Amino acid sequence: MTITDIAPSVFETVESEVRSYCRAWPVVFERATGSRLYDEQGRPYLDFFAGAGSLNYGHNNPVLKRALLDYLADDGITHGLDMSTTAKRDFLETFRSTVLEPRALPYKVMFPGPTGTNAVEAALKLARKVTGRETVVSFTNAFHGMSLGSLAVTGNAAKRAGAGVSLHHATRMPFDHYLGDRVPDFLWFERLLDDPGSGLDHPAAVIVETVQGEGGVNVARAEWLRGLSELCRRHDMLLIVDDVQMGCGRTGDFFSFEEAGITPDIVTLSKSISGYGLPLALCLFRPELDVWEPGEHNGTFRGNNPAFVTATAALDAYWRDGALRERTLGRADRVESALLDLCGGGRAGLAVRGRGLVWGLEFADGERAEAVCRRAFELGLLLETSGPRGEVVKLLPPLTATDDELDEGLGILARSVRHATGRLAA
Ligand code: PMP
Repeated sequence: MTITDIAPSVFETVESEVRSYCRAWPVVFERATGSRLYDEQGRPYLDFFAGAGSLNYGHNNPVLKRALLDYLADDGITHGLDMSTTAKRDFLETFRSTVLEPRALPYKVMFPGPTGTNAVEAALKLARKVTGRETVVSFTNAFHGMSLGSLAVTGNAAKRAGAGVSLHHATRMPFDHYLGDRVPDFLWFERLLDDPGSGLDHPAAVIVETVQGEGGVNVARAEWLRGLSELCRRHDMLLIVDDVQMGCGRTGDFFSFEEAGITPDIVTLSKSISGYGLPLALCLFRPELDVWEPGEHNGTFRGNNPAFVTATAALDAYWRDGALRERTLGRADRVESALLDLCGGGRAGLAVRGRGLVWGLEFADGERAEAVCRRAFELGLLLETSGPRGEVVKLLPPLTATDDELDEGLGILARSVRHATGRLAA
């Protein structure tokens, strides 16, 4: 039975029209473990969406669940102000020893509020406060969140339209590959920076995703990222890497910018940092940038203690050595070759992009990509589209998925592509 069989359901009569993912997957989910969700009829779905990237270690990961259950059973502090707690201390110590120290990153850690957009707002505010400048440069097809500051640096027209006010203090530049490969990197950007008549106010910062997740799985080359970092240094602009979706191992390394060998001034993390789907976000920055007054950026839910507990367990279990990184990088080849096979056989117009365990399959239009996701759902696989016209099928399997699960999902995807492209061509 689906939601529509029991219509009008409480979801349709009570919940707002703004609901979205539930429209693509019209069942009621009840349980989840590892790489699978189950609806209330007990039907399993292989999850290649992983909570939009918030479940890199799978659903209800047993190691994280044990830590959380023990904490709750001991009456650990649950509410989320930013008081000092044992859970927060454990998290900060573990984050320092597993993430910061091994990479010689001196970052201070700020808890800006529990979601990705909170971290981005804090990063933008801090960059403006430190530099005393307003303009922030972001890139074509960027996605940084849905509150007004982060929406101003987001590209998608439909999302921007929801703001209801003009979105200010941001300027766009072409992302890597946006103008094809004929134009030298940053030609336009640097020309504007150099020309006092260009009309570009000296930017406070540049905000960038190393792989644009919502924008269509657009992968920036390491060389392009190094060029950007260099440009920021030469022109005295802070570099913010938004690692909300691509951080926490999604591309292999803990931070997605490690491959490029750059050190951003400010980094945002959320989604998979708690590892359990519990809301938690971090804004990291060089200590010299820590010019906040106490409480200047405040919020009731800045210290989500249960999320600290699962985050600590995740860092302990997966980031004390390089095993998860190696595994993710090794599997990138497996996924890429399966997707390239899928693109062969005369199916022109399909393009494959990705890194680590984030991959995109680009179709000629959004209709085809949506038809693929619909068919995949019927066959028991959860996938979502991304890109400006929804034309890219995005794969975000849990990093903990087994090889069999990866192959199973890629097999269903192949069947869905054949079904959907055959039907639409007919
Ligand atoms: N930045 C990036 C790169 C994201 O992918 C997202 C979420 N898709 C956000 C920020 C916003 O995160 P949240 O939805 O938790 O506000």
